[in-house]
Amino acid sequence: KEAERYVVVTGANKGIGLEIVRQLAKEGITVVLTARDETRGKEALESLKSQELHNVNFHPLDVASQESILALADWLRKTYGGIDILINNAGIASVDKDVTFETVKLVLDTNYFGVKNVTKALLPLLHDDTPGGARVIVVASRLGQLKNLESKDYVKTLSDREHLTEEVVDSFVNHHLKDVVDGSKKEGGWPNWIDWVNSPFGRPVEAYSVSKVAVIAYVSALHNTLVARPGSGKKINVFSCCPGYVATDLNKNRGTKTVEEGADTPVWLALQSPEEGIGKLWAERKVVDF
Ligand code: NDP
Repeated sequence: KEAERYVVVTGANKGIGLEIVRQLAKEGITVVLTARDETRGKEALESLKSQELHNVNFHPLDVASQESILALADWLRKTYGGIDILINNAGIASVDKDVTFETVKLVLDTNYFGVKNVTKALLPLLHDDTPGGARVIVVASRLGQLKNLESKDYVKTLSDREHLTEEVVDSFVNHHLKDVVDGSKKEGGWPNWIDWVNSPFGRPVEAYSVSKVAVIAYVSALHNTLVARPGSGKKINVFSCCPGYVATDLNKNRGTKTVEEGADTPVWLALQSPEEGIGKLWAERKVVDF
């Protein structure tokens, strides 16, 4: 009998996250469905149990709260000892049509700092004997491809994958926030979606795009750090991916793909853990350009 495997999925009470949980649970993997709202999370859990998927557990997690992240890490340690796979799926688009410091900060805190803080807290829990290596998968977006950036300097720095560090990515994100505060966003070379009504999400997507550039770069930086560690013997493969344009609440259901299709690549990465393309951006089961 295969050893039991454990996976944690963030933002899993609906949308692509819930479907990722469903597909992995069907494979017989023990899944921890996490959600920031306990009621919504437990309702999602019940919906899976009614589909005869009983190898799913729930724990609260607000990725924008360090306290909540540490509480999850503690609970995982006590309950399972460790985990095999982390899927960072939680994400938000701008909640408001006005681009302000608060709206931008919320997007960056959730989509970038949230991913980073959850990953850091759970890395020590990843098993060192997972077949094919333990995995960290980040659901990013093709809106985070570098072609969305007008700043040639940042395109150059961020595409230098082998030299990417977390500090470089942090300073990129903090620079965006500073330009929003200073009102000098136009000169900064940031993604420019003047026509936000017709943007893919029907909402302003500049900060969202910056946050997704940042997580894709962070995954490469993390990969660099992991391979440079002095022989700990623990193998951890990290991947970022784009689910495609999927009809969910995030884009007011404008997306053209189903959640089943959207969950395909993250689930495939979790199950296959390919040996090529580690640290890179994936879509439709293939490496795509950053
Ligand atoms: P949904 O809006 O349907 O789901 C987003 C999930 O993230 C919800 O469960 C939401 O919880 C959760 N979430 C938001 N903020 C937090 C937080 N602070 N802590 C924990 N959970 C949080 O969107 P999708 O399913 O479409 O999005 C999933 C991922 O896919 C996101 O990262 C998104 O950026 C990415 N993506 C989606 C695309 C698409 O076309 N749909 C395209 C490219 C990427 P709650 O219900 O409480 O709000």
